[in-house]
Amino acid sequence: MTNDPRNLPPELACLHAGLPAPEREAPFGIPPVFASTYHLQGDPAGATFPYGRDANPTWLALEEALGALEGGEAVLFPSGMAAAAAALTPFLQPGDRVLLPKDGYHAVRYYAESYLARFGVVVDKRETRGLEASDLKGYRIVWVETPSNPGLELCDVAAVAEKVHRSGNLVVCDNTTMTPLGQRCLDLGADLVIASDTKAVNGHSDLLMGHVATQDPELLAAVRQWRKLSGSIVGPMEAWLCHRGLQTLELRFERMCASAQAVAERFAGHPTLEALRYPGLPGDPGHALATRQMRRFGSLVALTFPDQETALAFETRLGLIFKATSFGGTHSSIDWRYRWDPTVHPGLLRLSLGCEPTEALLDDLEQAFAAL
Ligand code: PLP
Repeated sequence: MTNDPRNLPPELACLHAGLPAPEREAPFGIPPVFASTYHLQGDPAGATFPYGRDANPTWLALEEALGALEGGEAVLFPSGMAAAAAALTPFLQPGDRVLLPKDGYHAVRYYAESYLARFGVVVDKRETRGLEASDLKGYRIVWVETPSNPGLELCDVAAVAEKVHRSGNLVVCDNTTMTPLGQRCLDLGADLVIASDTKAVNGHSDLLMGHVATQDPELLAAVRQWRKLSGSIVGPMEAWLCHRGLQTLELRFERMCASAQAVAERFAGHPTLEALRYPGLPGDPGHALATRQMRRFGSLVALTFPDQETALAFETRLGLIFKATSFGGTHSSIDWRYRWDPTVHPGLLRLSLGCEPTEALLDDLEQAFAAL
């Protein structure tokens, strides 16, 4: 591994962190290491690779890169939901209260309500916008997702962390919509950051992956222990592919965010839309906070049509932009979120800008609006 990947700026960490030191005639990166079992005799204390459920060299390479990007230590999980479960379950006991975003990714709420509540954890929900101004006392974990999926509402992570830390409790930030290139939650004061790397980090819509990162050694040990005992581990081939995808994150995300900005500017205020949300628009309610807290404005645009019929008619007319769930891939896609989560406005379409030329995307959207 490189000597000090943490000294690399995030844009370089995408490409250079997690590589072995250059050696004549050796490949740049390490090939995937397929192993359940390692040679190990005697006392296993101090062994990095005792067994395949503890560690794997291909995971370590990607963890080093993601850790460098996050400004902490990263632990890989086989999906974003596995990472979310790992940032909740080991830290809660019966009687604890957890606060989740009402308008965030729905499966995190369903997980907490379906399983954690069954073991005596009290699950409360609140809107993302203005969270920092609300009373956060008494919650063992306050979970933030900013910008939230799919409504793109923001909250102030540093202000939330400052409040929650007064009583020694934990802030977890789901940073999937931004990636660590767009927002560094640990720097903002979050104790744990989680992400679905299924999205922009891998970026090629061909695998699921997630990670948890932290700067706190005790939290890190607890997350690693959870992974080992729950068996929530990643295949080496997926880790290797995801590391390959990560190399181009900066290039891809730049194009994706630029296209999102162009789309938002072109269609904001369109007469067919009830609302268009993008944190990069100066008129967006989250813009001032986004400018302070984020390094980029993201690759998602939320389009709200007056009703489900208009939203679906619009979606049907798109040619280039794929109709699919998920986001952050090289291919642009659009998702009618109400089909997954009935708390979402029935006219909301979440548009994920990919790496196609911006003009081609604008043309596709333009013709779909014109056909309505
Ligand atoms: N968090 C957010 C904000 C998401 O959007 C998603 C998936 O869409 C997840 C977590 C879960 O990720 P995965 O599908 O990789 O389990």
